[in-house]
Amino acid sequence: LKAELTQAGHQVDVHYLNLELSAELGPDLYAAISGFSGERAYLLGEWLFGVAAFSEAEESDLYLAEFPEIADKLATLDYDLAALRKLREETLPAWVERCATSVRWEDFELIGFTSTFEQNVAALALGAAIKRRLPDSKIIFGGANFDGEMGREFIREFGWIDYVALGEGDVALPALAAAIANGTAPREVPGVEVREGAVVHPAKPAAMARMPDIPAPCYDDYYAALGRLGPDAVLGRRRTRLVVELSRGCWWGEKHHCTFCGLNAAGMEFRSKPASQAYDEVVALAQRYQALNVDAVDNIMDMSYLGELCDKLESSGIDLNVFFEVKANLSRTQLGGLSKAGIKRIQPGLESLSTHLLGLMRKGSTMAMNVRLLKWAHYYDMSVVWNILCGFPGERDEDYYNQAELIPALHHLPPPTSVGRLWLERYSPYFTEKSDYISNVRPIPAYRHAYPQAGLELARIAYFFDYDVSGVASPEAHQAVVRAVEQWRERWRTRRPQLTYRRGPGFITLHDSRAGAVSERVIAGWRARVLERCGDSYHSAGKIAADLQSSSEAVGAAEVREFLDDCVAQRLVIADGGRYLGLALPSRKRA
Ligand code: SF4
Repeated sequence: LKAELTQAGHQVDVHYLNLELSAELGPDLYAAISGFSGERAYLLGEWLFGVAAFSEAEESDLYLAEFPEIADKLATLDYDLAALRKLREETLPAWVERCATSVRWEDFELIGFTSTFEQNVAALALGAAIKRRLPDSKIIFGGANFDGEMGREFIREFGWIDYVALGEGDVALPALAAAIANGTAPREVPGVEVREGAVVHPAKPAAMARMPDIPAPCYDDYYAALGRLGPDAVLGRRRTRLVVELSRGCWWGEKHHCTFCGLNAAGMEFRSKPASQAYDEVVALAQRYQALNVDAVDNIMDMSYLGELCDKLESSGIDLNVFFEVKANLSRTQLGGLSKAGIKRIQPGLESLSTHLLGLMRKGSTMAMNVRLLKWAHYYDMSVVWNILCGFPGERDEDYYNQAELIPALHHLPPPTSVGRLWLERYSPYFTEKSDYISNVRPIPAYRHAYPQAGLELARIAYFFDYDVSGVASPEAHQAVVRAVEQWRERWRTRRPQLTYRRGPGFITLHDSRAGAVSERVIAGWRARVLERCGDSYHSAGKIAADLQSSSEAVGAAEVREFLDDCVAQRLVIADGGRYLGLALPSRKRA
């Protein structure tokens, strides 16, 4: 937004008060609160700013009684409830007041807060404090927390908010700034709700920016703040990562919106910067900020980037380490190309190792496809961030017991970070579409504590919802996967099991340490070729037999199937929908 406003001729300062607060509280505590997660969403980062934000803030004990597990989690951080209360009731209110006076807010014609995740109550607290001091100031809120109905409810309820951008701000914010600078009517600006006294003018339909028109971000103020405060004081042992946005929306969700996904709101339409522009921006930002670790915030990588962007990154001679969210359907060749380009960290949205569950999610993937991705990403030294989800209406116990049974065969591949239940998110199909299974949808309880504002309709500002659900598997079935993943993670952390093979003349040798003790075995002749043939990707026995027809040792489909079924029993191969995928990785790196 700063780059866009500057391009339009405005002067803009960005105040990274999050960095100031991290330096004030200490980076470890700050990061722990930011990442405070659990099976229930606590909204801890929001609740902590309640006393600063709301005149009717409730007693801290009410929240802490509702979430008694918070005390145990805090203890693991060497932090206790007394310190947490003091933070909420004294430290943060004083800090917000300081923020309201330490910057000359009166110098700005427009003060904007962009709010995502748990930044909202803090932003409301500071906005209200500034408005108390400077009643003539003009304040706008935007960002994901103000999208659509949520933004309308906030401006309706908080009479001191002047403007709310209801969707993407790229077009709306410069237009509003121009209207203010020129003295024209802000209420004519598309995408912005405008308050005039007690009246709130509804927004005209917003225009969405074309991605090629969005300039590269300007992080000068961020790095200036970091330098002033000291990177160690702000980040501790962590290091910055350069954040880039090369696309918006989701090309998969445009056609098959994953049933649980609440990303994108009204902006599902996929738009991306051309590969050459993406490359130029990434390199220019890396040079300007001397940063080599790059995180793309895109929901899903533009598949066209597998060509020109990867080629340019690979031939650039620059040792970037790039993160991207990708689709699970990437082949071995495509993963190899990403790795050579320096895209070494991926989040592929695997979500499950059950083809039936993936169908319920509308992921368009299968168990075998997900295993193929894990296999070749690991082979090309990429780190994979993924989770297993459970709790999908229509699921069966066997979907989980089958996963638990499969998992020991995958101990040589990177495990998921966690197993979690389905969250009901605003904008997701489970939220917007009528369901026979989901009923009594209501905001999660933490909103009641985070927003103790009598007139605020929580159902209109919430993003996470509780619900009653039927047609889900038993807790025992879910637990079977939880236990299997715990064991997988433990093995991966302590022993890094392997399943590899070396190719000899007419045979392969398999090296297998998944079960603990190392076992070696030789597989020769057509059987070795069959195993290699289903290594890159999954194929039916008939296809593999046909592929081997031209070789000297031709073999029929029935024999191939019998052999592969035996390999499945020995956990050397997985079978999914009549197709087979070998699990062993070549011990030698080949392109
Ligand atoms: S979960 Fe990922 S792939 Fe599915 S719709 Fe959402 S962004 Fe797209």
